[in-house]
Amino acid sequence: MWHMHESHHKPREGPFELNDVFAIINAVPAIALLNYGFFHKGIIPGLCFGAGLGITVFGMAYMFVHDGLVHKRSQVGPIANVPYLRKVAAAHQLHHTEKFNGVPYGLFLGPKELEEVGGMDELEKEIQRRIKLSKK
Ligand SMILES: [Zn+2]
Ligand SMILES: [Zn+2]
Repeated sequence: MWHMHESHHKPREGPFELNDVFAIINAVPAIALLNYGFFHKGIIPGLCFGAGLGITVFGMAYMFVHDGLVHKRSQVGPIANVPYLRKVAAAHQLHHTEKFNGVPYGLFLGPKELEEVGGMDELEKEIQRRIKLSKK
């Protein structure tokens, strides 16, 4: 998978990068689950619909925080100042600096991953840097 994800660690040429294919890979089963769940009756289709909804909501949250807040591919408005999201964004920024050999790999659990490798000082520094930038 690194082959596709690597595109995300290089300057983007144009509006898209190869790494975006992962969004489509996740969307296909989500649409299939939603479609099946919506048009059938019973407990199994119901569970399928729930799973499809879960993937969709997670995907939206991921795009909003990762692509919008961290990489500035879209405007996110005042949510940039929500302390938890700022922490998540700062942790992901450290993934890109590779100071901790690429840790954290996850997005929303990034701060926890950094804690496990002793990266809390660096995380705090990055958070303060983002607060300063946001005040300009
Ligand atoms: Zn990466
Ligand atoms: Zn990223």
